Amino acid sequence: MKKPLKAYSEKRNLRISKEPPAKVRKKTKGELIFVVQKHAASRLHYDFRLEMEGVLKSWAVPKGPSLNPADKRLAIQVEDHPYDYKDFEGIIPEGYGAGAVIIWDQGTYEFEPSKNALHLVLHGKKLKGAFSLIHTGENQWLLIKKEDKYATTEEVTEKDRSVVSKRKLETLVEEFKRQQRKK
Ligand code: MN
Repeated sequence: MKKPLKAYSEKRNLRISKEPPAKVRKKTKGELIFVVQKHAASRLHYDFRLEMEGVLKSWAVPKGPSLNPADKRLAIQVEDHPYDYKDFEGIIPEGYGAGAVIIWDQGTYEFEPSKNALHLVLHGKKLKGAFSLIHTGENQWLLIKKEDKYATTEEVTEKDRSVVSKRKLETLVEEFKRQQRKK
């Protein structure tokens, strides 16, 4: 069996980056967590992460999540991340994923798997209610809001502050640029 988080540690230099070490969380009871990180890498995207089996299953969502059931948001599955990544907010200095990260949303979730899909109920600060994550092939998925009382045509990504520090991503991007200039 492939070592968990092998791809995670191979992609990045964890001596330089302050991203969390590649550690699998021991089994615990209690609620599963999810986190969405807004990430100004070479291309801006949102990282959607679900706790499963001691790691965070991860998808990069270029346009970010939507609360509008008419939107089908492309979600590219990427390497599993360690559980502790849920608390990461800051600067990835260089190499893979270099750029700024804020914790855009966080909370707990429930899920039910079905053929080629995960049916999710999210209890976040911004994302709430039922969603489907539909597997459409290879590493490609679609993240779609289901009709419920939380569905809205309002653009949820306009809420652009960290749910932890209340900072905007742009503030950290400036910090990243200052660090780059010093080199
Ligand atoms: Mn990312």
